[in-house]
Amino acid sequence: MRGIVSLAQLSRNQWRGREDLERRQFKALRSLVHHAYATVPFYRDLYDREGVSPADLHTPGDLRLFPIVTREALQSTPQAQLVTEGTDLDQCLRSRTSGSTGVPLEILFRAPDRSAVNPSFLSVYMAWGMKPWHRMATFQSRSERLGKRSWFQNFGIFRTEVLFSRDHPEKWIEALKLWRPHMIHGYSLTLKLLAEALEHSGANDLHVPLVTSTSGVLDDGARRQLATTLGSQVVDIYASDEAGSVIAWECPRCPGYHLCSDTVVTEFLTDGCPALPGEDASVVITNLTGRTMPLIRYDQGDVARVSSEQPICGRGMPLMEAVRGRAGDFIILRSGRKLTPHPFFLVLDHALGVGRWQIVQEAVDYIRVMVTMPGGHTEDDCAAIRRAILELVDDGTTIEVEVVETLRTTSQTKLRSVISNLPEGQTP
Ligand SMILES: [Zn+2]
Repeated sequence: MRGIVSLAQLSRNQWRGREDLERRQFKALRSLVHHAYATVPFYRDLYDREGVSPADLHTPGDLRLFPIVTREALQSTPQAQLVTEGTDLDQCLRSRTSGSTGVPLEILFRAPDRSAVNPSFLSVYMAWGMKPWHRMATFQSRSERLGKRSWFQNFGIFRTEVLFSRDHPEKWIEALKLWRPHMIHGYSLTLKLLAEALEHSGANDLHVPLVTSTSGVLDDGARRQLATTLGSQVVDIYASDEAGSVIAWECPRCPGYHLCSDTVVTEFLTDGCPALPGEDASVVITNLTGRTMPLIRYDQGDVARVSSEQPICGRGMPLMEAVRGRAGDFIILRSGRKLTPHPFFLVLDHALGVGRWQIVQEAVDYIRVMVTMPGGHTEDDCAAIRRAILELVDDGTTIEVEVVETLRTTSQTKLRSVISNLPEGQTP
């Protein structure tokens, strides 16, 4: 029931005026900063060290007085210091993700922290014409079904079929023909594979009006293929685990993406200062809904541009231009099959002791996996990673796992934790 209430609130918030939204956002921000300082040791120590206090937050612009928090800083801090005092760590839910940066971070949360996640996606789908009785298909990387069906799905509302991204694209097409969804949601690279497979198969009896893409922007070629083969409108959604919901989404009418200013404070910074419209900027977010493990001024590791355009659709939420940067490279197997990087993220984000990782495909039958193991390692740790990667690739592929002291991270490599050194378009 909480999800339905949240969906109704988020859908209503889209149409609030700019000033109303700003006032609500600042109220939520102040409450969060006070909460974090009073109850989370990490923020109390950090703000004391930097000489700032929640009382300094008089206007939205004062947020800039507070220090930016990086993924690495959180990763190297004991979890008990990152959560509200008195939190029973064993009772927390956890999501572990590197968000394609190659630096796994575990986020602890409880159900109320995430009550806006699914509704924030649903409110975008509905803005694009989806109705509660339409059927959906979503891709997922794990081979087991995640989560329980919601009570409303048992009543035929937002019914969803799961497609597994590790399956062969032909299997996806078969499932889509049976399920006949109104919309498909997936990672951009998975959708690119689907688009190629649809064009190759010549299937012309499928019509899916809406395709929503996340985790990297779908390129124009794949958008065209999906429009031609499925008759789809393709919508990009910018979301992250750390933000706890959608950060921004493409509007059916406006030039750009609406920022979800009701659930996230999004800053666009160059050299620590607010960026000008159209300028490449680092995205720094504050998650207004997560109170168990607050994320305040968290450097998302993405590059985007703030927009100078004003909304024309009547929504009060400000606009940004597209997120920039590559979604990552495909791994191409000996058989010619392409794999998206996501199954590799799953293996390495969950490998014990890994501080940072990077995968480089040097040849169709040779993949190097580089990891840092800050707490030390044994041969068994490396063998376990090698075995898990071997399960993803074709027989006869050489997997080399190297433990290294450091891995480079520049703004270019951040988005490229899986790198292919094969010549563009190479298939064996
Ligand atoms: Zn709009």
